[in-house]
Amino acid sequence: VKTTLMHVGPSIGDYDVQLAGVCPDQGFASEKFKSAMSEALKGINYVMGCDDSYLPFIIPGSGTIAMESVTTFLQRKDKILVISNGVFGNRWEGIFSRYDVELTILKSHAGYCVSHEDIMGSLNRKHYKMIISTHVETSTGVKFPIEKYAKIFREHCDIIVVDGVASVGGELVKTSEWDIDIYITASQKAIGAPPGAGILVVKKKLFQDYSDENISGYFTNLMNWKPVMETSIEGNGGYFATPPIGVVFSLRNAFARIRDETMEKRVERHKKLSRSLRRGIKSMGLGIVAQEGYESSTVTGVLLKDMDADLFVKNALKFGVEFAVGVHPDLKGKYFRIGHMGWVSREDIFKALNAIYNTMKEHDPKTPMPDMDSFFE
Ligand code: PMP
Repeated sequence: VKTTLMHVGPSIGDYDVQLAGVCPDQGFASEKFKSAMSEALKGINYVMGCDDSYLPFIIPGSGTIAMESVTTFLQRKDKILVISNGVFGNRWEGIFSRYDVELTILKSHAGYCVSHEDIMGSLNRKHYKMIISTHVETSTGVKFPIEKYAKIFREHCDIIVVDGVASVGGELVKTSEWDIDIYITASQKAIGAPPGAGILVVKKKLFQDYSDENISGYFTNLMNWKPVMETSIEGNGGYFATPPIGVVFSLRNAFARIRDETMEKRVERHKKLSRSLRRGIKSMGLGIVAQEGYESSTVTGVLLKDMDADLFVKNALKFGVEFAVGVHPDLKGKYFRIGHMGWVSREDIFKALNAIYNTMKEHDPKTPMPDMDSFFE
């Protein structure tokens, strides 16, 4: 059986996008690469909803390098507020433990967002240099309503950062309209390219206002990457450290496909498919980790009743789908996760429900068939 990858990233691939990355003997100074890099950078601004007051970055590595690069705009003793709804929100604690900054981190229970009262309490206590939130928390599938909070954050900080590693390319992202300063993502999730690049957009003004004497390291310091991105977006290339050449060719192809589909339709597709998936899951008597109203369109955590999640994920492979185990410590062993992003189709959702049903039926023969009505809407 060919396995369908419904892990939370890398997720379902597309051969054309992947094959575009097989580019024998391309150096970063070739005309072909310079043109791909320019188009890929412009594609980032398109999926992020940015005007040209933002500079896009493609950095070799992954989402975490993009996260750590926010140190480019921090000085010693700066106050930072992180609103963490799970494991990837908590990752900021690990990052900032390496730097001399003052971190306040708010944490939620698994499946919930930090409460409005807790957020407002911390906002009213002091002014922060930076406020960070995670758009889609991949450990639980919870979506933070950043569009509602961006204006409020603006009153209480200088720099608003959003981790969109699991949202960009699948959820509505309006960086300019919401006035976000830095939006972070990676190549391998809802954009649908292979892993290998950290991606972000930065409001150009930040470089004038905040980058002097910053606390960043060498590789993570965006001041080193900025000139390269500025010349690369114009099609002239540049070098600070070797770019992930194959990933850039794949990204160029992915963004061309995304523009063909349009972001509006892509967001609608993710919304509709995730709704069908959740309905099917609930109809089999299983639970959704994310509280109602906070479900994302890209990642779903599924609560199992009395079956170990590791065993579930292992057994589901027999039915041709690779899911991911749950990683939130509060619900360890009790749930698994489904990545449904990027190139996900109705057929993939169908396969996922089929694999869940067959895996559950082996464990409990009374498992009801999933409701497939939404497939015929
Ligand atoms: N933030 C979120 C929301 C994520 O889902 C991930 C990856 N699962 C990361 C950050 C870290 O990204 P990476 O693994 O690409 O370094």
